[in-house]
Amino acid sequence: MAATSTSLFLKSPCSPPSQTKPFIHRQYTNALFQSRTSRTKSVNISIIRAQSNVRKEDIVIVGAGIAGLATALSLHRLGVGSLILEQAESLRTSGTSLTLFKNGWRVLDAIGVGNQLRNQFLEIQGMMVKSEDGRVLRSFKFKDEDESQEFRAVERRVLLETFAGQLPPNAVQFSSKLAKIETSTDSETLLELVDGTRTLAKAVMGFDHQ
Ligand SMILES: Cc1cc2nc3c(=O)[nH]c(=O)nc-3n(C[C@H](O)[C@H](O)[C@H](O)COP(=O)(O)OP(=O)(O)OC[C@H]3O[C@@H](n4cnc5c(N)ncnc54)[C@H](O)[C@@H]3O)c2cc1C
Repeated sequence: MAATSTSLFLKSPCSPPSQTKPFIHRQYTNALFQSRTSRTKSVNISIIRAQSNVRKEDIVIVGAGIAGLATALSLHRLGVGSLILEQAESLRTSGTSLTLFKNGWRVLDAIGVGNQLRNQFLEIQGMMVKSEDGRVLRSFKFKDEDESQEFRAVERRVLLETFAGQLPPNAVQFSSKLAKIETSTDSETLLELVDGTRTLAKAVMGFDHQ
């Protein structure tokens, strides 16, 4: 009987989702096994490394700005982990403040940080519009217009740090600028950073505000 040769192409194990430390890429060793299973049959089994330098994640969020962090925190509250890729070396906390109306506060309450922020920023009661010579053109109180209105200016840095502070350690991977994004053959999304590192994700959400 003629000898047969079989090659097996196995997908290598990848990093476990979410809990892996960033920037760690395990190296998997290629192995070439040659086994002779019987006197008449010789089998070459090649285990090749398939995408072994690709990290695997369930959900990747691009951009650790307000939208990206708030989304990650919302998912976290639901028990869903995610990895945020941020191009900067740390949170971009510059800027002044954002004035948030009641819809914004509803969102902050829903993700569990509303009261933490209310304690730090006073409620703005009303608004007065004046002419150049100081005459009052219009004056009103927000609650006169809408009893449920809530209007506060929140320092951008505090907002970002509050979101990030509620996320698990290493939820944000800094110095990670996304360069390329494409659908891989198995319907997952392949993300490539400018440093060449690659991540396969089941779901990707972009909040890069470009
Ligand atoms: C530094 C800064 C200061 C600001 N100051 C104020 C302010 O004082 N008042 C105000 O009202 N609004 C301010 N804004 C705007 C406001 O924060 C945002 O417009 C708004 O909140 C929308 O948020 P966002 O999360 O969509 O975008 P952003 O807050 O702009 O966040 C987008 C994030 O995505 C990251 N990113 C972009 N491209 C990539 C990439 N390829 N790979 C990885 N990461 C990427 C960016 O570095 C950034 O951190 C500021 C924005 C920034 C970035």
